[in-house]
Amino acid sequence: MKILILGAGVVGVSSAWYLAKAGHEVTVIDRQPAAGLETSFANGGQISVSHAEPWSNPHAPLRALSWMGREDAPLLFRLRWDPALFDWSWRFLRECTSARTRENIRDIVALALYSRNQLQTLRADTAIEYDQLERGILHVYTDPKEFSAAVEASKVLREFGCDRRTVSADECVAIEPALKAARPLLVGGDYTREDESGDARCFTQKLAALCGTSGVSFRYETCVEKLMATDGRISGVSVKTSSVSETLVADAYVVALGSYSPLLMRSLGINLPVYPAKGYSATIPLSESSVAPTVAMTDDGHKLVFSRLGQRLRIAGTAEFNGYNTELNSVRCQALMHRTKHLFPELNPAGEPEFWCGLRPSTPSNVPYIGRSRISNLYLNTGHGTLGWTMACGSGAALSDIIGGRKPEIRLRCL
Ligand SMILES: Cc1cc2nc3c(=O)[nH]c(=O)nc-3n(C[C@H](O)[C@H](O)[C@H](O)COP(=O)(O)OP(=O)(O)OC[C@H]3O[C@@H](n4cnc5c(N)ncnc54)[C@H](O)[C@@H]3O)c2cc1C
Repeated sequence: MKILILGAGVVGVSSAWYLAKAGHEVTVIDRQPAAGLETSFANGGQISVSHAEPWSNPHAPLRALSWMGREDAPLLFRLRWDPALFDWSWRFLRECTSARTRENIRDIVALALYSRNQLQTLRADTAIEYDQLERGILHVYTDPKEFSAAVEASKVLREFGCDRRTVSADECVAIEPALKAARPLLVGGDYTREDESGDARCFTQKLAALCGTSGVSFRYETCVEKLMATDGRISGVSVKTSSVSETLVADAYVVALGSYSPLLMRSLGINLPVYPAKGYSATIPLSESSVAPTVAMTDDGHKLVFSRLGQRLRIAGTAEFNGYNTELNSVRCQALMHRTKHLFPELNPAGEPEFWCGLRPSTPSNVPYIGRSRISNLYLNTGHGTLGWTMACGSGAALSDIIGGRKPEIRLRCL
């Protein structure tokens, strides 16, 4: 089958890999000059099944209200006239009940576990390298209330197959000795030995190169303008480069445009509840004398993650609902640095941090849309929110099963 994949982020490129392996003729379109240059560019780097608890949970509404208006808030809703944000927020609130949260965690864990296994197999098959570390993920807590909530959440995660173990504050330091100076702040933690970390952009670009040698074509600097539908099927995609406009035709089309996916679906009369949640990262070059973590970490109270990428430390997190704005806010950048210095006072960087922000394609439940849409030859692989890197390989493999008429190994949701 001839398949056009729209979007060359980590999700689009992973889809291309599995679809090409299944024997399809695949072309990937992206407006950027290379793969992985938007949200997959400098994310937190974690392959974190242990991070399956969605933002929409019973604690979220009160927490978000208490942070309202604080420029450095971990989760910030900026009040603005935006019908898409109102619609999304209403759906988000409906996902905050205990029952919905539990169901969402179950589906997220299943997809994330499947995806971590697919990534490990892909790594073994291709010897791809992307500053990966297989040292697990340690969550640390500095607030006793957050910690006791996490102990309960870990029980639910274990029930669904994610081996997230509660550990004491001393055990946190034993697992990651760089936390020694922060020991007085810690009240406890949890550790998921099987989780991993690595550079998502490096992975995406190297996998794109491997796709190229497997026959996948990439058309960069090509903007997707419109999907055209006739008689319940997509008849073509209108695209534009700096010099030409043309219509590309295939048997099947995959939307993997991250946060921009709903904009193209609108003209087809499909309301895709994916909203951009802006997050920040800082990448710090490390010196010989740096005391920095090598185990990937999450500071739950501040919604920050830390990943060691070779001689760099990546700190990422926070979420801001402010449309498609991608300006860097210096207060939010400095909030990352402030907390990092607090936890790792002997970081001794080798240079200035590189700040970045990206738009997580967030669904109200944090469960992505993967599968056939109500238009028969149009497929979705989008809405991976906080866990797009974690879920990319599994999402690509499962989508390839669906398009190939095979039953995917896990339960998926689509519109
Ligand atoms: C601060 C931060 C930290 C994160 N940390 C983690 C983490 O630790 N672990 C984890 O699993 N996930 C993490 N994520 C989430 C993860 O990065 C995303 O879920 C993932 O990158 C989404 O990938 P994608 O391929 O769907 O989107 P993207 O990477 O944004 O790809 C979409 C592609 O579509 C292209 N495109 C869009 N519109 C058009 C158009 N009209 N025409 C042509 N091309 C178009 C873009 O150029 C882009 O390349 C984090 C995100 C952020 C922001």
